[in-house]
This record gives sequence, C-alpha cells and structure tokens, in this order.
Amino acid sequence: MSFAELGLSEKVQQAVSSAGYTEPTPIQAQAIPHVLARKDVLGIAQTGTGKTAAFTLPMLTLLETGRARARMPRTLILEPTRELAAQVEDNFDKYGINHKLSVALLIGGVSFGDQDAKITRGVDVLIATPGRLLDHFERGKLLLTGVELLVIDEADRMLDMGFIPDIERIVKLVPFTRQTLFFSATMPPEIQRLADAFLHNPVKVEV
Ligand code: AMP
Repeated sequence: MSFAELGLSEKVQQAVSSAGYTEPTPIQAQAIPHVLARKDVLGIAQTGTGKTAAFTLPMLTLLETGRARARMPRTLILEPTRELAAQVEDNFDKYGINHKLSVALLIGGVSFGDQDAKITRGVDVLIATPGRLLDHFERGKLLLTGVELLVIDEADRMLDMGFIPDIERIVKLVPFTRQTLFFSATMPPEIQRLADAFLHNPVKVEV
C-alpha cells in the first residue's frame, strides 16, 4: 500500500514525502480511505502506531474545500491532556505546510484572550481539552453548530481522567449529522457504550 493509493490530496502527499514517510502505517492504510469517504471510524490503536496522521492527513484533504466562518470551527479534536493537544497541533503544522488553514489550540494555562481572537476570526481545526472547551463555550464566544467532523482521541484516557460527562455534553452541542472519528487504545464496556452512542454505522479499524 502506498500513500498515493489512499486518496489524499496532492498537497498532503507532498507534505508526507517532505516528512520522509515512504509508506502508510497499518492504521493509516485502513482508516484514511474511510475518513475521506466521510464514514465514521472506530479506531483501536495505541500512541506510536501513526494514529495522529491517520486522522490529520485526511482531515487536511477534506478541509481543502470550504472555508471557516467566524466563531464556528469546522472540525473539533478532543484530547485528554495539554501535551497531546499540542502534539496534534504540531502535526497540523507539519502536514499542513502547503495549506493555509487556521488551527487553534484551547488548553488550560493559556490566557483566553488570544484563543478568543482566533476563534472570532474563524478556525478550520479546533484542538481542545474538554474542560477548556466548555469554559470557552460558556463564555458565549464559541459556536459548535458548524462542526462537520469530530475526533475523540484517547477515549480510554478520557475515562480514566473523569472527562466522560464533559465529552457527553460536548457531543450534544455539535450537529447530529457530523462525521465522528473515535480512537481508543482499549475498549472496556464503558468506552464501547460511548462508541455506540456517538458513532453512526462506524467502520472498525483495529491494529
Ligand atoms: P503517533 O502514533 O501518531 O503518535 O505517531 C508516532 C510517530 O510516527 C510520530 O513521530 C510520527 O511522526 C511517525 N509517523 C507517522 N506516520 C508515519 C509513517 N507513515 N511513516 C513513518 N513514520 C510515521
């Protein structure tokens, strides 16, 4: 399997070769065509498998059409920790070198001002920890009704950290018709219950 066969845009394929990748990892080969076909995906994969690129690369391709509107992020990625959220932002910087997309990071420990200004201008990709996202939402400056694609990453860690009630609230704020990508390293019953609730006819990818 080569990157060229997955359906990624030219811009994304160029960024992937600049990154020095010669072939997709198993999670990338299995997940990317389904993400591009706008299917919901349940991915059971650990960190280190290339999971982040499995969603960032097709998201970059999908975001090449359309544009961001003020206060209404087009896509939302939820991460359990600031560090993971920052790593996802780094991935968008690295793979999005040929794109002019607006990416915002909403994590604790950073002032609201800069984050607010970015959201007000409009963002293509919003990467957030659940608590901070809800803080912004409650301040009334963020609308989640334009979210076309939602990523819930590291779901089992979200559970360990007590974030499931926040996630359930956030999912109710995004459109029912969105595309959802849900990743977890393990699938305990509570995580399976959430996957069943959040995903519509998902493709299951396990590595
Ligand atoms: P992740 O599982 O997303 O944390 O990725 C683990 C590491 O694999 C990161 O350092 C990526 O830069 C790298 N990586 C992702 N995809 C590929 C690939 N197709 N070929 C080589 N390295 C990759």
